[in-house]
Amino acid sequence: MRALTLLATGLALSGRVFAQTELPELSRDTVTRGKYTVIFINKAPGFSTITQRRLIDAYFDVYPREAKRFNPHTLRSVNFVIDPAYDGVAATDAGTVRYNPDWFVKHPEDIDVVTHEVMHIVQDYRHDPPGWLTEGIADYTRYVFGINNTAARWTLPDYREGQGYENAYRVTARFLLWAEQHANPRLVDRLDAALRDGTYKPELWVRLTGKTVDELWAGYAANPAADMRK
Ligand SMILES: [Zn+2]
Repeated sequence: MRALTLLATGLALSGRVFAQTELPELSRDTVTRGKYTVIFINKAPGFSTITQRRLIDAYFDVYPREAKRFNPHTLRSVNFVIDPAYDGVAATDAGTVRYNPDWFVKHPEDIDVVTHEVMHIVQDYRHDPPGWLTEGIADYTRYVFGINNTAARWTLPDYREGQGYENAYRVTARFLLWAEQHANPRLVDRLDAALRDGTYKPELWVRLTGKTVDELWAGYAANPAADMRK
């Protein structure tokens, strides 16, 4: 029930906010497999039906696995909007992911944009979480659950001097992977849960690993090797 209410609220809000500039829907497909649904709304003339199918298949592949590991109470129904009015790569708000169609014209193999974005729905952080950690966990999840990263040539970067854990995205994801292998195998799960229930504080790193995040990063910088096999 909570999920349905949230979804309805999100739609009503975006309807008001974007009413002025909203492009018309060219198609709307509702697909349900098992307990999960995606409503796929296309606003881009000529958007590839192959890419559409791949984005939908990715959703049904990765979202249930992310939900199972991190948040079984996540939304059961998600909206995907292919929106030429959006000029980033993709963005997620409540239960809606907006994708820039041009990105997939230029990067047709980058299907795991889905894996990153739907993790933001699973995360459901509402207590002013640190953005670097939110994005780091989303890219960690893309690394762990991704289905097409190799074809997309998407990898976690090796440590380089000058990086910091607050760089977010792949840099933070690589650090989280290392920390899970060297300090606490449940680290990401515990951070994620605390971020969702509002109990996250920087001291949590000490409780989970015996070190502050700065101390842990110093250990990473000194010896950054990690097992990159999944
Ligand atoms: Zn993100």
